[in-house]
Amino acid sequence: MVLRNSNSVFNFDHSYLSLPAIFYSRVGPAAVPHPQKVIFNDDLKRELELVAEDDELLTSILSGNHIPGNSDPIAQAYAGHQFGHFTMLGDGRAILMGEHITRRNDRFDIQLKGAGQTPYSRRGDGKATLRAMLREYLFSEAIHYLGIPTSRSLAVVATGEAVLREVVNKGAVLTRVMKSHIRVGTFEFARYFGTKEDLSALTNYTIERHFPELTGSEDSALQLLDKVMRLQIELVVQWMRVGFIHGVMNTDNTSVTGETFDYGPCAFMNCYHPDTVFSSIDHSGRYSFGNQPEIIKWNLAKLAEALLPLIHSDEKIAVEIATKKINQFDDVFSEAWYNMMFRKIGIDQAIDGDRTLVNELLGAMQTDMLDYTNTFSSLHLKEPVPGNSGMATDLGEWLTKWRGRIATSSSGEERAKYLMKKYNPVFVPRNIHVEEALDKADQGDLSLFKKLLGTLRLPYEFQDSGKDLLTYDENYDKQYQTFCGT
Ligand code: AMP
Ligand code: MG
Repeated sequence: MVLRNSNSVFNFDHSYLSLPAIFYSRVGPAAVPHPQKVIFNDDLKRELELVAEDDELLTSILSGNHIPGNSDPIAQAYAGHQFGHFTMLGDGRAILMGEHITRRNDRFDIQLKGAGQTPYSRRGDGKATLRAMLREYLFSEAIHYLGIPTSRSLAVVATGEAVLREVVNKGAVLTRVMKSHIRVGTFEFARYFGTKEDLSALTNYTIERHFPELTGSEDSALQLLDKVMRLQIELVVQWMRVGFIHGVMNTDNTSVTGETFDYGPCAFMNCYHPDTVFSSIDHSGRYSFGNQPEIIKWNLAKLAEALLPLIHSDEKIAVEIATKKINQFDDVFSEAWYNMMFRKIGIDQAIDGDRTLVNELLGAMQTDMLDYTNTFSSLHLKEPVPGNSGMATDLGEWLTKWRGRIATSSSGEERAKYLMKKYNPVFVPRNIHVEEALDKADQGDLSLFKKLLGTLRLPYEFQDSGKDLLTYDENYDKQYQTFCGT
């Protein structure tokens, strides 16, 4: 697949259009009055090999004002369970401009978010605010540099439009880049709004695009379920590693490629407590930090239900097979989670008692409300980590036990240090710093935003210049709230 037309910024293909027509609507981005570059991601531009010397042209394309000749824009149809309730959704404010193909034949969806209304907008205005798009930019890049699969942000372009939420906001368009936007909700859409042929077409397309090794296998639907399950387990384990709370793990926000996406009400947890929730609408704590494994399992069960007709023609047998698969979740997750936690405390080869060691640490951290990031990084950093003054006393007994365990470990202390440095970030975007940076950025001053972004690009390195990001007012988080797609 080499399409390259040297005059185009993007090397677009449109494989999604090979799906039956119910899966998308042809619709272009809305024109905006006054497009202005706010931030471009130069690293990503290079990674994608974009031919874009001219900022003005790129700004115009990424605002939706200029539709490149090789673009064939669409909005994707999907459904999904939101807080447990099934609904028809679809891209209500996002336009897929095309699939950009790199020289290595990697394929990336290029999507403009906040680009105007589509047939799926329901009562929404199709727009996005500058503040929310900068927030997504910051979090997606932070997650990327933490080494966790995620959608990327190529640019934020201000539109010059006023966007009305509770107050008047500046409008903007974010360019989201992702392996694909196929979600659990896309399969639910096919199952409940399409025919069996539609479901088959989507399954075959997904396999061909993302899991070609499954092509032609007899139980490909079941194998697809297994792949997505493993990718999502890996992803959620990574979120748990760094204290990330996605905040709105609806099935339409669960990608089949195992990429983090839809950065609305997400946040990082500071003081450790599994019940931590920041989303203003998550009253029951459905998407709390500690509930994320349970919820991803629930979402995977929804994918299994959607795939039933392809798993076996006899529904009873299909349910049995799918249930058996989903029932593997708990053991696979628990094993992966403990292995990750072992590495956070420097253990390479686990022995009896190590699971207890992890549980005891989390128990003590919860009781004493210790900072999740600082507690782990202070186990291996030479530099003193502020904000955790109570740690030595709070964890005194545990620390003695843990030091003894590492001292006698067969892989040695150097290996322990190496693992801890690799698994424990020093810097994560903390709520108070994120909001400060966004307040300024919204007023047109991006200096703080860029400084924060710069520090978060090397999250595992202690940076003296970022020291102030290790401390925060603990009371701030008590009243802190995040919001869905504003
Ligand atoms: P999200 O909470 O971002 O997953 O969005 C849920 C659904 O609402 C998706 O179908 C979005 O496209 C849609 N949506 C969110 N905000 C808007 C908006 N301002 N206008 C139209 N649709 C929207
Ligand atoms: Mg969504």
